[in-house]
Amino acid sequence: MSVPTRHVRTRTGCWTCRFRKKKCDEARPACERCSHLRLICDGYDGQPVWMKDPEKVAEKKAKIKKQMVKRSRGQKKN
Ligand SMILES: [Zn+2]
Ligand SMILES: [Zn+2]
Repeated sequence: MSVPTRHVRTRTGCWTCRFRKKKCDEARPACERCSHLRLICDGYDGQPVWMKDPEKVAEKKAKIKKQMVKRSRGQKKN
């Protein structure tokens, strides 16, 4: 009873989507969301090292933001 249920497959998505609090399509090796934004998909396994570094986290956040701005600019429906 005290043992938490552990699934081998994650349902929460890749680390990048989790970080962005977005729903991940969980495509492999890189999810659609990450590929769409041309971001490095951090995958589904161990927590990426950058997440432990606040500086890197800020960097990542900025990068994502930049990519989103870039994408929303000069591009209508695709
Ligand atoms: Zn994802
Ligand atoms: Zn991803």
